[in-house]
Amino acid sequence: MISPKKPTNEKQRLDELYSYQILDTAIEQSFDDITKIAAQICDSPISLVSLIDQDRQWFKSHHGLDVSETPRDLAYCAHAIHSPQDLLEVSDAFKDERFHDNPLATGAPHVRFYAGAPLVSSSGYALGTLCVIDHQPKSLTEGQKEALWALSRQVSALLELKKSNRILEETRVAQSQTEQTFRDRLERIGDMVYELDPKGKFIYVNPVLIRISGFPEDELLNMHFSELVYESDIERVTEYYIRILKNKEVSSYLEFKMKGVNGPVWVGQTVEIEFDDWQGVHIYGVARNIQELMEARDRMEKSEEKYRWLSEYSADMICLHEPDGRYKYLSSSVKDLLGYEQDELIGVSLYDLIHPDLIKSQVDVKSLNEYGFSGIESRLRKKDGSYVWVEFYAKPIYNEKQEVVSIQSSTRDISKRRKFDEAIQRAMRLAENAKQEAIASAKAKENFLSTMSHEIRTPLNAILGVTNLLLMEELEQKHLDHLNLLKFSGENLLSLINDILDYNKIESGKIDFEKVDFNLREVLINLKQSVMPEVDKKGLELVLNYDEQLPNMFVGDSVRITQIINNLLSNAVKFTEEGFIKLDISLIERKGSVAQIRFEIHDTGIGIASANQSVIFENFAQASDDTTRKFGGTGLGLAITKKLLLLMGSKISLDSELGYGSIFYFDIELPIGNELEALPDTKSGSSVFESVADRDIHILVAEDNRANQIVLEKFLQKWGMKVEFVENGRLALERSKIECYDLILMDLQMPEMDGYQATQEIRKLSTTYGQNLPIIALTASALLDVRKKVKELGMTDYITKPFNPEELYKKILKNAGKVLKRLVSPINDPISLRLHELSEGDPDFKKELTQHYLDQYEGFMSSFSKAMKELDEKMLKEACYGIKTSNEVLEYTALDQVIESAQQAMLGQGISKEQSIEEATKAYESITATLRDILSHEL
Ligand code: ADP
Repeated sequence: MISPKKPTNEKQRLDELYSYQILDTAIEQSFDDITKIAAQICDSPISLVSLIDQDRQWFKSHHGLDVSETPRDLAYCAHAIHSPQDLLEVSDAFKDERFHDNPLATGAPHVRFYAGAPLVSSSGYALGTLCVIDHQPKSLTEGQKEALWALSRQVSALLELKKSNRILEETRVAQSQTEQTFRDRLERIGDMVYELDPKGKFIYVNPVLIRISGFPEDELLNMHFSELVYESDIERVTEYYIRILKNKEVSSYLEFKMKGVNGPVWVGQTVEIEFDDWQGVHIYGVARNIQELMEARDRMEKSEEKYRWLSEYSADMICLHEPDGRYKYLSSSVKDLLGYEQDELIGVSLYDLIHPDLIKSQVDVKSLNEYGFSGIESRLRKKDGSYVWVEFYAKPIYNEKQEVVSIQSSTRDISKRRKFDEAIQRAMRLAENAKQEAIASAKAKENFLSTMSHEIRTPLNAILGVTNLLLMEELEQKHLDHLNLLKFSGENLLSLINDILDYNKIESGKIDFEKVDFNLREVLINLKQSVMPEVDKKGLELVLNYDEQLPNMFVGDSVRITQIINNLLSNAVKFTEEGFIKLDISLIERKGSVAQIRFEIHDTGIGIASANQSVIFENFAQASDDTTRKFGGTGLGLAITKKLLLLMGSKISLDSELGYGSIFYFDIELPIGNELEALPDTKSGSSVFESVADRDIHILVAEDNRANQIVLEKFLQKWGMKVEFVENGRLALERSKIECYDLILMDLQMPEMDGYQATQEIRKLSTTYGQNLPIIALTASALLDVRKKVKELGMTDYITKPFNPEELYKKILKNAGKVLKRLVSPINDPISLRLHELSEGDPDFKKELTQHYLDQYEGFMSSFSKAMKELDEKMLKEACYGIKTSNEVLEYTALDQVIESAQQAMLGQGISKEQSIEEATKAYESITATLRDILSHEL
């Protein structure tokens, strides 16, 4: 037996065989049919489809044989495959050296005859054979051989088909796996994915589309894509895709609303179309749910819209800038504000528009970026080159890294406001000027009034003074009547002047109330006394009821209180012809140190008709037209009274009936004063105008008006006083340095040196006399500031001209007692004044004292020089100690230094003892000369 060799391409042949995956597969009808036909045609009991594996032959079909495989070495077919184009026919195995002892020939299945047609693959490899076998030797006819070939090709074709099917199946499986993965992915991406057929019907929809649309898959797969578009968008979407198809655009994107399970849903859809020969064949769509995005965009658009609306409709110019100041957005008001179109200024820097003067002083990029600007007023250049005033606000906008990315600004036209401000400022300046003018004019008015009052009062003073003097003479009734009329008219004129001045003062609000201790009871008694002559003359009765619960001393402005009560009291006297006048002063309440006091002035006079009761408190108002003629008066008294009381926090009230008298009353609160301040009025009760010749009162009158001089001289001489006149302040000062007066009556307005200045100079004198000499101002003006000034300059008191003789008399007597009685020379020597003070003006005592101190200094000098010469320290100390007291008493300081240095000189320190003695002698001589001088004058 010859074993079959392996073909040269055995490896490739086997690979080819295995690629059919046929080995060890199940019996198949189609192969069995072929072997059956082959056996039939070749008239053989066995037919096989044999495939040659590496070590065996395996039968896919084995007709007439129960074995499914045999070893390759024994296989007849293994020989046949060596020549794929040839049919191998072994007519008698026993006669063929290759097979004669082959067990398959010698034993079962007794293969004596064999004919095999190779099974050739599509690539030309012989995989096996279709063979027929018989147990006897024989040969096939040509016809049989052809049939066998034909059948073997069928087997090959069958194998080929099976292989193709398998590959196809494998591909299909692989494909379906890929498809599944793809679907899985599509479902996972969250977008809606679908495919349409060329007519626009869904052929694939992913679960996302199913979920969002709410339609089941099978329904969707029958739908046209437009059925999923929301009604409002159908037209737009359809038109869009018709155009896409027409233009054959491969890729497109469109946003529209689709129908969703919960209402319309905004989608952004990308469509890819595969055109085949420019016919749309595949339409793939991916649609993304952009509902939230659209809502956000909508919100943003709305807010943007709002912002734009705000900025566009705002009269202010709203802008965005680059951090360096360049404009990147401007609202439309730029046109109105600067005359530019919005676009014209994009990219232009704010700094190119700001007035150059202002850039340096107000704004720079650094501060713009750091803080922005707030309310900066600046000027911006308009398109026409002119500048407009604006108010500018800017705020930097930062990113998350805190870098400035933009500047937001708002610019407001403030030219109108500035014009308005300027107008206001102009108006304010004008108003200020007007005010200053008004003040100046008020001042001028006041000055005018003050001058006028002075000018009127001076001659009036003389008229009234002379009238008073004349009235003191023995006169005929006729003359007396004329003089009384003269006095009435004069006094009326005087009160008119006083009232006008006062009213003017109150009107201009320049009234200050003094707060000084005063004796109210005394004020009222004086007031009573001042009207008593008139009361007596009219045969009236005047009663003063001063509540015993009331203290006497209060703190306030006694002048003003006197003025008020005087007004009311003199009216009561004036308007009462019979009956009585009553002045009731009562305590309403006492709160701690403050008393509330009720003042009531009753009269039984003509009364006031109720219609006039409020009128009479107005200026220049009187109850009837003939009042002035009948009673005198100006109609200002009550107006002043009312205003003064108002300023004092009170209110005047009136109870009256025409023909039945009147009661004027008011309440005021006054702090209770210091009772100790109440000086006992020793003079009260004493008869007025007693001669005081025995008191040797020496008065200097500084008055330039001759008429006043005459009047004063008459009165003062009448009262037994010694009087000397000078015409100006300078002379008054001169005289007061030489003479020692009891009192100076000092007119305030005088030529050369006025009364104020003269008083100041006198007060500056180093003498106690100069500092204490009573000086009473004679003033034609009762204005408050005059009263104040008089006090400030150190004047003792004042008297208004024309003077009330009684007031003058009282004030002279009150003050004259306080001054030196003797001529002092040298008047400027303080030692003399000191001695005068120490002796309390007693000339004998002063002489004694002077002599005493003279002795003291003489004793000192002899001890001092002796001690120095003998270097007797103890004696020196005693001498110095003894004289120190004298120095202190006489306020003599020249020796102090000498005493200090003497002790050192004695020890040989500082000055020499000779020098010391010399200095001591100088001081000693000075003081002793003065003392001797005083002694000689006093003698
Ligand atoms: P006159 O200077 O006229 O007194 P007043 O202001 O003091 O000015 O008073 C205004 C007017 O009020 C008086 O003219 C008078 O008509 C009336 N009058 C004031 N007090 C009385 C009074 N006691 N009795 C009657 N009439 C009075």
